[in-house]
Amino acid sequence: MGGFGSGRHGGKHMAEHCRKIDINKLLQAGCLKSDYSGGWQWLEDGEQVANIGFYMVGNKITLKYRFRSNGSDCEEIEQPTQIVWTPCRYGGERPYFRCPGVVNGRACGRNAVKLFSGGKYFLCRHCYDLAYKSQSETRADRLLRRANKRRMELGGEAGVYAWINRPKGMWQRTYIRHKAEIIHAEGLAMAEMRRMFAGKISAQEMEMYFE
Ligand SMILES: [Zn+2]
Repeated sequence: MGGFGSGRHGGKHMAEHCRKIDINKLLQAGCLKSDYSGGWQWLEDGEQVANIGFYMVGNKITLKYRFRSNGSDCEEIEQPTQIVWTPCRYGGERPYFRCPGVVNGRACGRNAVKLFSGGKYFLCRHCYDLAYKSQSETRADRLLRRANKRRMELGGEAGVYAWINRPKGMWQRTYIRHKAEIIHAEGLAMAEMRRMFAGKISAQEMEMYFE
């Protein structure tokens, strides 16, 4: 998957701002009956900014829409999604989307009230968080790997807390440039990790690991 927004606060931020479909709204609007077909639109200040079509066959809803990733042509997407009904505590049944997301090779299959369009498909919040995180992880890893390589080239050890010294015979200017590169890459990696862990660990832990 790709084409996620670059929300300042990561997944959370995106989930608030990207388009979503809510199964309870579809239910209230009478759209969840077999053979129903219709559409859904998103409004901003009373103006339609986006829409999708969908049709029901049994307990499966198929979403139909056009997707354009950065600069490429529009693609027609059809996303079949199972709807599951689970019994409520006080009688009756409640519908959920079964999230069709596959992130890092694993099928999601969670029951979700809302599906978000954070990229090409409509998936549960969890899938887009996961995808965002795995993307950030690789970016942070890559930055740290680059920094460590540079550290070793300077005759030092890997790790953010290791000393950086100027090797004998290296020009001061070259050394300063290498050192700046290391610190820059590590700073970006730390920022990435702070974003990943925001709200998941305490402020003290945050300071301990990433300051
Ligand atoms: Zn999911």
